[in-house]
Amino acid sequence: MQCDVCGKKFPGSGLSLTLDGKQRTFCADCYTRIRVEYGKKKNCDDCTHFNKDSCKLTRTKMKPISIGYMDYFVQAEKCANYKKYVETEQNATANLKTGRHIEATQTREKLGMSEKATRLRQKQEEMTASRDNLDNLIKQLVDRGQTLTYHCCHCGSSLRIGAKSTEVLKICPKCRYSLEAIDMAKLINQHMA
Ligand SMILES: [Zn+2]
Ligand SMILES: [Zn+2]
Repeated sequence: MQCDVCGKKFPGSGLSLTLDGKQRTFCADCYTRIRVEYGKKKNCDDCTHFNKDSCKLTRTKMKPISIGYMDYFVQAEKCANYKKYVETEQNATANLKTGRHIEATQTREKLGMSEKATRLRQKQEEMTASRDNLDNLIKQLVDRGQTLTYHCCHCGSSLRIGAKSTEVLKICPKCRYSLEAIDMAKLINQHMA
């Protein structure tokens, strides 16, 4: 595959992402860079006018750009009405990052919740649920004595999950790039179907 951003060629299938309505393939470096870049941008869900994917001022529905498991609403970058949710959001996010969930929840309930903070919490709950689901799927593979082979999206090397290897790899042992974008549950489900 070839990266649509930097043009680098690599053996894996790459990471796909929809930007400006176009499907693009990213190499691991560009994927990581764009996530950092978007994380630094102004986001509508940081704004006091944002409510459930819509802007309360203009009454338009916002379309997020999904990078990995995070959604970004960068329309705020060009919006004159953007008003950052002060402090509450930062406290809540800081607490979430350090894993102080209870404190984060209390802070938000006391001071009001920004959409982003709510979304972050929902994502965390979803991820815990999908983690349980994944453990279950791996157990089913092990019970059947099956091992599934899949490939690193960056370097294409063979990786295994199942009876012979129960560990879900976060980093490719060969190229050391992150494997977080691989939907392991989907992969196992397809295999079992
Ligand atoms: Zn690239
Ligand atoms: Zn690799």
